[in-house]
Formats: sequence, structure tokens, C-alpha cells
Amino acid sequence: MIIPLHPRLSEAQERELTEVAAEFNVRIQPIHGAERSIYAILGDETVQELITRIEGLPYIERIDRIQSPFKLMAKESKLSKHQIAVGKRMIPGDFCVIAGQCTIDPKNKNFFLETSHAVKEAGADMIRGGVWKPRTSPHSFQGDARCLEFLLEAREQTGLQINTEVMDFEQARICIDAKVDCLQIGARSALNYRLLQEVGRLTKGTDIRVLLKRGMHMGPVSEFILAGEYIVAQGNPNIMLCPRGTMPPLEGYRNHPDESITPLLKEKTWAPVVVDPSHSVGKAVFVPHASLAAAAYGADGILIETHCQPKKGVGDDPKQAVTPDMLGHIIRECREIHSRVQKISKVAQGA
Ligand code: PEP
Ligand code: MN
Repeated sequence: MIIPLHPRLSEAQERELTEVAAEFNVRIQPIHGAERSIYAILGDETVQELITRIEGLPYIERIDRIQSPFKLMAKESKLSKHQIAVGKRMIPGDFCVIAGQCTIDPKNKNFFLETSHAVKEAGADMIRGGVWKPRTSPHSFQGDARCLEFLLEAREQTGLQINTEVMDFEQARICIDAKVDCLQIGARSALNYRLLQEVGRLTKGTDIRVLLKRGMHMGPVSEFILAGEYIVAQGNPNIMLCPRGTMPPLEGYRNHPDESITPLLKEKTWAPVVVDPSHSVGKAVFVPHASLAAAAYGADGILIETHCQPKKGVGDDPKQAVTPDMLGHIIRECREIHSRVQKISKVAQGA
């Protein structure tokens, strides 16, 4: 729906608008009210070039689109019933937990294996472990490619699936060759559209999942969903959206917690939402609260940094990893909350 700047377009303006529309095989239908006129677009209004051309006309205030700008991520798309397996959980539906160390320490393989067994014991469905790390400072530990072997060993020993972050094409290819079950695209890469496309393309037709973090400077939820659309458009629908806090931070937290966008995402897209409470609040003592809040907001799961001995960890682990014992408590409470949320959602939707 096109809203003009002034109550009504002049004849010349309406003619120009109609000509632009004709270039894109759509028509313009004026709707004249007593005070104002608005102009409907009849035809496919998802074509961005058409929208940009109309928005560029100086006498147009804005366009309110009726059709979703997401072709594949939209709740009404042909993927609307798509579910993703995380271990034995199917999401949306079940509540899944991806847990493990922020960073795998190349000098401490045993810590990682111990953590992996412990998260399994606590009820996690997938192990996380950072091999390559995006660090704010180039002088911080950047991860170590050799740690991929430890991650594969943890899968072998526990039977759990594994998740790790990839930052470039080469890392993506290495992980795909190693059949890593879930590739994480981090907050810093969430707007790297070439990487999103390449990961989507390389994982097409496989059952490799992609966990896409929300960029820390992302604005409207549509920007996040469209980033996901880049992956799905290349042929991999096994995508999870992961709010992880945005900038600027809420004083005292690492970021501004954003688990509350979960219902907004779910209103617009079928893609499951797996919240990262660890990077959101950034302090182990707050993580249980943020985890339960995520479940209460209707998340389909959490990605949670856990370490068998957080104080001896590297990367974010000394600050934000919870212990496996705490993880067990969080998982039990979250699963309880998740089932209650499913009941209340049905009531809210009038089912
Ligand atoms: C991480 O998961 O350890 C990480 C670096 O996450 P983010 O991209 O959200 O900062
Ligand atoms: Mn981390």
C-alpha cells in the first residue's frame, strides 16, 4: 500500500507512478477516502527494485507492504511446517540445548572431553566448541584449527552432534568435509552476505544445520530474518536463528539482552529460535535467569557456554560459562517452562 506525502497525488504524479509500476508488471489501484487517498499495488510487491523506485519518488511518504519481504523464511512460505533435528529433538516442537565450551583450549583436550561428557550427562542435545574464534582484539587467542580433532573426538566418544563457528569459506569447507553437524555463523559475520550464501550453497542437500547469530548492530527483526533468507535461498532450510544480545549494552551486561524478540521472530518466520543467553548477559551468574527468560519467551532452545572448570577455561569461559551441574538445573527448568509456554500459546491463539 502506497501512502503519498500529501492527501492525494496529482494527475501527473499518478501517471508517473503507473508508468513505474508497468515496468514491473504490476498495476496501481487508487483508493479514495474522504480525507486522503492511498494506492494499492496489484501484483507482486516483493520485488525490491520496484519498492525502491517508488520510495524514491519525492511525493511518496512510505510503502506498507502486505506481502512478506521474505520469500522462503515467511511463516506462509512452502517451508512453514519445516522442522530441524538437533540430536533427537525436533524444533519447533521440542526444546533443544546446545552446550559446551566457548573455546577449545589446544593445551587442554581433556577439559573439552570432560565438558562434553558432562553436558551430555546434564541433558544437552548437541555439543558446542569453538575451534576458530572471532576476537575483538587481534592479540587475543584466535583459536586453533587442530582443535577440530578434539571436537570430532568428543562426538565419537559421546555420540552427540557437534556445533562450531566458521568465519570464512575455507573453515566452512573444512567443517563440511569433516561432517560437522551444525555450522555457527557468529554475530560479527551475520552481515557477511557472501559467507551466508557460500555456507548455504556448500551445505545444500546435506543435513548440516546452520545456527545464525543475530548481528550485534542489527536493527529490525526483518534484517535478521533476511540474513537467514540468504542461506535458505541457496538451498539449505535447516537454519536456526540465534538472538545473542545487541549493542549498546545494558549497563552491567555484556550486551543488551534480546531474548524478547523471540515472539516477534515467530510471528514472521517458521525458522526455529535458539537463544544464546551466555553472550547476551555475559556473566555466569546471570545466565540461568536469561536462559529461563528465553524459554518463557517461547524459544525452541538455548545455546549455552558450559565448562567443567570455568576458572581454567580460555576465551569467554572464565566469565560466562556455567558448570555442568548448573546446566542440568537450567535444562530441567527450561523444559518445564517450554511445555507451559506451549499450553499458554495455544490459549492465546484461541486453539
Ligand atoms: C561464541 O559463540 O562463542 C561467539 C563468539 O558468539 P558471537 O558470535 O555471538 O559473539
Ligand atoms: Mn563465546
